[in-house]
Amino acid sequence: MLADMHTHSLHSPDADRGASVEQMALKAQELGLHTLTVTDHCDLNYWYGADEHKYEEYYLSDSSMFGSRDYAAASIEEVTALKERFSFLRCGIELGQLAQAPEQAALMSADKRLDFIIGSLHMNRGKPDFYWIECKKMDSSEIVSLLDDYFAEELEVCRTGDFDILGHLTYPMRYIVGECGIPLDMTRWEDIIREIFSTLISRGKGIEINTSGLRQHYGLTFPSLEHICLFREMGGEIITLGSDAHRIDDIGAGLGAGAALAREAGFRYTAVYTGRQPEFIRL
Ligand SMILES: [Zn+2]
Ligand SMILES: [Zn+2]
Repeated sequence: MLADMHTHSLHSPDADRGASVEQMALKAQELGLHTLTVTDHCDLNYWYGADEHKYEEYYLSDSSMFGSRDYAAASIEEVTALKERFSFLRCGIELGQLAQAPEQAALMSADKRLDFIIGSLHMNRGKPDFYWIECKKMDSSEIVSLLDDYFAEELEVCRTGDFDILGHLTYPMRYIVGECGIPLDMTRWEDIIREIFSTLISRGKGIEINTSGLRQHYGLTFPSLEHICLFREMGGEIITLGSDAHRIDDIGAGLGAGAALAREAGFRYTAVYTGRQPEFIRL
C-alpha cells in the first residue's frame, strides 16, 4: 500500500481535464492507496484571485499562469470537507517560489487545515516557468547560468521556507534533457546539491521522489536515483512518493517504480503527513 503525496485537482489551473477531489478520492480508493494527499498549486509570486482574470492574461501572454490565492482556497476547502468521508484523504498544497514571496508563504503555511506542504520552484526569480524556456534557442552558457540560478534559489528555499518536503528537485531537466535532448553533466552542481540536502536534513525535512518524469520524455524521477542515493548517504531519512498527477488516470502512476528506487537507495520507509507531522510506512 503506497501513498500518493503529490496530486492536482481541478483547483490547479494547469490540471488536464481536472478531476474533482471526490473523483480523485474514489480513484484512490479503487487503487487501494494508503493515503491520497491533494496538493494543488499555489504559486506564491502570482498571488491574486481567480476573479481578477489574470490567469488568462498570464496564460496568453506566454508567462506563468497561476492566480494562486483563490485556487488554493477552493482546494483546501473542498479537501477538508471530504476528509471525514474518505479517511485516507489528506489536505496538502504545493507552494511555488517560497523565497520570492515570503509574506504570502507565511499566510499559507499558517493555515491549520493543511496536513502537508510541498516546497517547489517552477521558475527562477523574475523569469517565466521552466515550462516556457526555449532551451533549443539557448547556448550552453545560458543553460548553465539558468541552472546555477535554479539551484541557488532551491538552496534559499531550503534555508528559509516553511514546508515539509522539497518538491521535484531537478525539475528543469524535464525540459532541458527530456524535451530538448540536451545532455547535462551534473558535476558542476554536486556541491550545491549536497548543501541543499544537508540543509534539509538539519531542518528535519525531506525530498520527494516525483514520478511524473517517468511518463515524460525525461524517463527518470525528479530527482533521479543518484541523488536519492546521495540524500540517503548523507543521512536523509524522510522521503515521500508523488505522482504529480494532473489528471485522474495518473493518480498513483509510477509509485511502485519510485518505491523500488527508494529501496535501492537504502530507504525502508516512506512518509505520509497528518497535521504536518510525518508518520512512516514500510516500503
Ligand atoms: Zn510542481
Ligand atoms: Zn505538482
